[in-house]
Amino acid sequence: MGKVTGFLEYERKEGNVREEADRVLDFKEFHGRLPLAEQQKQAARCMECGVPFCQAGVMIAGMASGCPLHNLIPEVNDLVYRGRMAEAYRRLSVTHSLPEFTCRVCPALCEAACTCGVADAPVSTKENEKAVIEYAYENGLVSGDAPAVRTGKKVAVIGSGPSGLAAAIDLNSRGHLVTVYERRDRIGGLLRYGIPNMKLDKSVIDRRVALMEKSGIRFVVNTDVGKDITSAELLKEYDAVVLACGASNPRDINVPGRDAKGIMFAVEFLTAVTRKLLDSEFKEFPTELAKDKKVIVIGGGDTGNDCVGSCIRLGAKSVTQLEMMPEPPAKRLPSNSWPEWPRVLKTDYGQEEAIWKFGSDPRIYKTTVKEFKKDKKGNVKSAVLVSLEPKKDEKMGRMNMVPVAGTERTVPADLVLIAAGFLGSEKYVTDNFGVELDGRTNVKTAPGAHATSVMKVYVTGDMHRGQSLVVWAISEGRSVAKAVDRDLMGYTNL
Ligand SMILES: Cc1cc2nc3c(=O)[nH]c(=O)nc-3n(C[C@H](O)[C@H](O)[C@H](O)COP(=O)(O)OP(=O)(O)OC[C@H]3O[C@@H](n4cnc5c(N)ncnc54)[C@H](O)[C@@H]3O)c2cc1C
Ligand code: SF4
Ligand code: SF4
Repeated sequence: MGKVTGFLEYERKEGNVREEADRVLDFKEFHGRLPLAEQQKQAARCMECGVPFCQAGVMIAGMASGCPLHNLIPEVNDLVYRGRMAEAYRRLSVTHSLPEFTCRVCPALCEAACTCGVADAPVSTKENEKAVIEYAYENGLVSGDAPAVRTGKKVAVIGSGPSGLAAAIDLNSRGHLVTVYERRDRIGGLLRYGIPNMKLDKSVIDRRVALMEKSGIRFVVNTDVGKDITSAELLKEYDAVVLACGASNPRDINVPGRDAKGIMFAVEFLTAVTRKLLDSEFKEFPTELAKDKKVIVIGGGDTGNDCVGSCIRLGAKSVTQLEMMPEPPAKRLPSNSWPEWPRVLKTDYGQEEAIWKFGSDPRIYKTTVKEFKKDKKGNVKSAVLVSLEPKKDEKMGRMNMVPVAGTERTVPADLVLIAAGFLGSEKYVTDNFGVELDGRTNVKTAPGAHATSVMKVYVTGDMHRGQSLVVWAISEGRSVAKAVDRDLMGYTNL
């Protein structure tokens, strides 16, 4: 039991966040850490609940409540409170292979479900996690050791996002020889070329990959499976193949003028930004992408927010973010009580920066684009926006957002970024393997399983569950490793 009166004595406190005026000048991370003694007080706020919803990871009303990895949060918090950081790291490692990523980018499902949050601010479990994993790195506790025994089995992992990495770590630790194939020039999936550097410094990925290589995992970049190498070749060479290719098929906006130059998918844009930063070792910003431009971001979610923050750093003249749905309430509605995921208004870092720079929230709700207009050279020059209202589809029995006649207005635009979500897996990969798909083009398996319709081929991460979160990708990666190991060895001790 931790500090009985901790939650009464200490207020929630977080690491320093750099001011907007300072952080928009670079692409560096802007969330600082508390000194360890302060973090211990934060961990002391944990009541070590008998029923810790923070670690439950259960589905309530269609949304996950608590940590999907079932991190042993009360125990980790207690060890942090007592300053037993090495033990806290060992406890965290029981359920989690890549905490350095979630402690930076996770929406902290644990905190949304924390009992402390019912009457006061939740325990800062995400920052406690960061304190633990960074302590572990700083003190050489994160192992790059190769397994003592090799099984002689070979596994190929296709895709180096968080799910592929988590699967590779566990399969390698069990003694299988793992090769990770990645079509891009660098490892990390959306951790690398999706999530911007200011949220997740790319050296954090390099630090992990170096340890993984040391432990015997082989990485092959610039190799597109299904194009540069076929499924037949892989299935001949490997005892099992894990598909971890993500849900990289972006949802498009099919309206007149969509073919104009200057309209890009969000991930294409974010990739170009990060690639130039990395290629130039952060000496050059790709200002040519957004400087002095009037930007429209289509999609009010997290990806859209990352586009807003990136455009501001690149010197955009204005940024408008369109969201089809109505503005969420500021506080939980009675129909959305704890420990459900709170469906409330969140103003993220990019939006905060837009408010600081332009004086107003960049989001316009219940609005979409009806048409793009081009100039003589075929460049986008404006967008016709239209307001939307909810209307019940009597046949399907669900609410749709439909255009309101007479609300059209034209706004200038030199750059349009489509951040409207993803539709599932890419066809050339799934065709090449011949795996069965579900109705949403995710690779089909039995519920809770990872084996596909093709022998020796497994699936994990966004390619399996659809566009999701890093924490779910890691959870899937750990789970697919168990499934593969069981099939290869007849049992699993992972
Ligand atoms: C812009 C953006 C921001 C996000 N921000 C957050 C966030 O802050 N927090 C959060 O929790 N989640 C966030 N997400 C979601 C999260 O990044 C994903 O859910 C997660 O990365 C999925 O992991 P994955 O390993 O399944 O796939 P991915 O990360 O998509 O990795 C798949 C990898 O497979 C490779 N690949 C695909 N096909 C092939 C092939 N044929 N051959 C070889 N390689 C191939 C791809 O190049 C890619 O590197 C964000 C997503 C986006 C798009
Ligand atoms: S992985 Fe995410 S949900 Fe789980 S404990 Fe860490 S921050 Fe919370
Ligand atoms: S719900 Fe909150 S207070 Fe309770 S054990 Fe989890 S982190 Fe601690």
